[in-house]
Amino acid sequence: MKAVLIPEPHKIMVMEVEMEKLQSEKDVLIRVKAGGICGSDMHGYHGTSPFINYPVIPGHEFAGEVVEVGKEVKDIVVGDHISVDPVISCGECYACKTGRYNVCSSLMVRGVHVNGGFKEYVSIPASACHKIDKHIPWEVACLVEPFTIASQSLARGGITREDIIYIAGAGAIGLTILLTAKSVGATVIIADISDEKLARAKAIGADYVINTMNKSLVDFIEETEGVEGITLALDAVGHPSIIEAILPNMMPTGRVVLLGFLKTPSNLIQMEVTKRELDVKGSRLSCNRFPIVVDCIEKEIFNPEKIISHRFNFTEIEEAIHLLISKPNECCKIVLSF
Ligand SMILES: [Zn+2]
Ligand SMILES: [Zn+2]
Repeated sequence: MKAVLIPEPHKIMVMEVEMEKLQSEKDVLIRVKAGGICGSDMHGYHGTSPFINYPVIPGHEFAGEVVEVGKEVKDIVVGDHISVDPVISCGECYACKTGRYNVCSSLMVRGVHVNGGFKEYVSIPASACHKIDKHIPWEVACLVEPFTIASQSLARGGITREDIIYIAGAGAIGLTILLTAKSVGATVIIADISDEKLARAKAIGADYVINTMNKSLVDFIEETEGVEGITLALDAVGHPSIIEAILPNMMPTGRVVLLGFLKTPSNLIQMEVTKRELDVKGSRLSCNRFPIVVDCIEKEIFNPEKIISHRFNFTEIEEAIHLLISKPNECCKIVLSF
């Protein structure tokens, strides 16, 4: 069988590897059908992820069809369509015991810490497999994972339909948050420094877009009738200046959710948080969100297809990566077929 491999930073290739076998009687063997390329795959390629041990098979957004089932597996049969939760947790630590396995103290993610799903066959524990209706296209089924990220962050922020939401970053994650927030009925403002990305956000339902190169959030609020401030902000970029700009524009009792992974410190002003009793929270991966997202997709509450900008066969992975590097603003989600 074939697999995508990053042997070392700045190299990516398709290799012939040994056929994957069922790894345990609690696993199912999946014929991978589609995968999404994500920012963390790009960090893997660029060598900027602190978590990766090379060589690695990337891919944490993937879906496929079950071709073999371990003897101890219940509820999954050959032929089922599966979307995979890439989180591997210990089940024993404080986070796991309190039900927050996505921040397990020995957390591993398929495609990052260990080999992922960009290969023709993969053995996955049944507990990480989520069935999805067979009429859902594969390229949509593989995007459940990024939508769980959105679902998690909005749940952390306690979204309601009355919220005035500010999303920093109109990349793939920003747009998954946008589509999910709009499905709840909230008002959404999305900001970026790329007009191309903002045009895509507007086309798929953003109420307002701000290019922060030309306009500050303060000025936007001042001149926009009906927007007095932000009740829920999500930072999908992580640049230190973003939270600094967000805090003074939050309404009292607002929630700020951070998804960034940069190490650069921020000049966060405590008083901005305390005087309004803001909640500032982190959001990482997702916890019990797969069934919710699968349900939303099956019921057409939102359509992940709207974030797909390009499609490639997995054998063209190098081409896909180079497109992402050379034309980042033209790209949103690139999906691979297998
Ligand atoms: Zn991802
Ligand atoms: Zn744990």
